[in-house]
Amino acid sequence: QAKEEGRNGYQIYDESMNSRALERIILESKLHKALKNQEFTVYYQPQISSRTGTVIGVEALVRWNNPELGVVEPARFLPLAEEIGLVIQIDEWVLGESCRQHRLWMEAGLPPLTLAVNVSGQHFARYDLLGTVTRVLSETGMDPGHLELELTEGVLMAHTEKTVKMLTALKQMGVRLAIDDFGTGFSSLSYLKRFPLDVLKIDRTFIDDIITDPDDAAITLATIEMAHTMKLQVVAEGVETQEQLEFLRGNSCDIFQGYLFSHPVLPDQIAAMFGAAATSAPPQAVSSPYPP
Ligand code: C2E
Ligand code: MG
Ligand code: MG
Ligand code: MG
Repeated sequence: QAKEEGRNGYQIYDESMNSRALERIILESKLHKALKNQEFTVYYQPQISSRTGTVIGVEALVRWNNPELGVVEPARFLPLAEEIGLVIQIDEWVLGESCRQHRLWMEAGLPPLTLAVNVSGQHFARYDLLGTVTRVLSETGMDPGHLELELTEGVLMAHTEKTVKMLTALKQMGVRLAIDDFGTGFSSLSYLKRFPLDVLKIDRTFIDDIITDPDDAAITLATIEMAHTMKLQVVAEGVETQEQLEFLRGNSCDIFQGYLFSHPVLPDQIAAMFGAAATSAPPQAVSSPYPP
């Protein structure tokens, strides 16, 4: 129809543009109501220590379950949430919810796990992240030393001055700071030195091919070595096979996260990994693929 009207012979839109625009409008209107309607849930993915083979932390990952759309992946709704300015509210909700959950785990006798929470760049650009973190920590009584904020390279690159100040203040509170998806942006390790980071997470795309692609293996090894020189702990994301695990263990990677150990799961399943949910129990390895 648009095609026929276009006198110069070019299309104003086609069918696929039309349906994409429609999907976006539908997603956007539902997303606006999702927080109020309590459609978000936090899942937790275990992080395993290389040294002990036990779960020492979890990453909080948001899920959106809409009655009509079903489960919508973060990759589908978070970019839109950033665009329409909703991501800050979502992040705040995830932070509050996961810190409350951490408190419940502690009361149930779990060891003090590190709680890693993703933070969108918008918090840094135009929002009071420091205030939010301070408030949530005091509301939940959580030890700041158990909270780890995950930032991306883009965040650090975009707002250097302000970010260094904010990160330094968070650091002084005792909060741990991680760089997420390392290797996908354009920053170098020496650039990272300007920020008071504790943890570096190697992006899943490198881990995917460490066994088959010598370049990815070399990048991963160099990253681990330099990160250790800078006194950063190294987490490997997306560990899916025993071969990847062995390679990473053999090359001094500190912490593993991935489907080999566990998908992101609900809070009760994290508690179950430590035996009875309501009693004190020693930490346990999460699964058999991890050799003693
Ligand atoms: P991320 O922070 O890098 O989180 C890791 C992602 O990799 C998660 O995807 C996780 O489910 C997935 N993953 C973990 N292990 C494996 C594996 O072995 N194989 C494969 N193929 N995937 C694995 P998810 O949950 O879909 O989240 C995608 C991204 O969305 C996250 O990447 C993060 O950037 C963002 N995100 C999730 N929750 C939040 C949130 O509460 N706030 C913000 N701002 N971003 C979030
Ligand atoms: Mg993350
Ligand atoms: Mg990541
Ligand atoms: Mg990410």
